[in-house]
Amino acid sequence: MKHKIIRSIFALLALSLLLNAPRAQQNAPAAAKQSSDDRVALYQALLDLTNPWTVMCIAAHPDDEDGTSLIVMRRKYGAHTVSLFSTFGEGGQNAIGPELYQELGAIRVRETMAAAEIQGSEPYFMGMTDFGYSKSPDETFANWGHDLALSQMVLQIRKLRPSVIITNHSVTNNDHGHHQATARLVLEAFDAAADPKRFPDQLKNGVTAWQVQRLFVRVGRSNQAPAEAAKDLCRIHRALSFLQRTKRSAGPTSADSLCACARSERCGCAVESLAQFP
Ligand SMILES: [Zn+2]
Repeated sequence: MKHKIIRSIFALLALSLLLNAPRAQQNAPAAAKQSSDDRVALYQALLDLTNPWTVMCIAAHPDDEDGTSLIVMRRKYGAHTVSLFSTFGEGGQNAIGPELYQELGAIRVRETMAAAEIQGSEPYFMGMTDFGYSKSPDETFANWGHDLALSQMVLQIRKLRPSVIITNHSVTNNDHGHHQATARLVLEAFDAAADPKRFPDQLKNGVTAWQVQRLFVRVGRSNQAPAEAAKDLCRIHRALSFLQRTKRSAGPTSADSLCACARSERCGCAVESLAQFP
């Protein structure tokens, strides 16, 4: 609700800028660009007012996020979009410079923040150690600490309150241990975030249990054709539209009753595969 109010204020401010821009400045290139930027900002702000939902993408490393889906959900459909990364990516390789480890992590965080600005999304980091390539999720959890990593993910879900979570990491993929561990954490955190008995110490200072409505897990990412990717976006948008319709028909409602309604009508299973879908 807080960011909706901020968006409304921003829309009014942007509209005020447009209406009050002196005509004499319209010929100046800088003023023209400013005017164009204002119009884009106004369009986004008005679009935001039509969509109350938050889409969260969870990824193990910077550049593992589903930037395509995030940018479409934000720029086309007006959803509030956030990314949550397990690590800073400091254990990766650097093909263009000498920086490694913490220095590389700082560079990758800056790159992620720059990309997020273009996407219109907000990046968040859990701060788990990127200790290089990991052969298995068990090896990863031996380093991260399973419960610590899960609590971090649950806390961010409870704070950011996503309606929908998307991820490129699947528990059925046999790839990087960090990816597999993050995929497992997403499944566990989906339920744990809604259970007040899990990590009860987090439930203070405005943080409450939070039930995510849907989880979309991408399978077979590297082989996905553009047409399939477009279908995935439609599926996410349909899920958001369904939530919108449910809210309208039920009137103002709590997250709990909204979730119960969504589950009973549509969500036999809240976890859906994005690719290899019938
Ligand atoms: Zn990765």
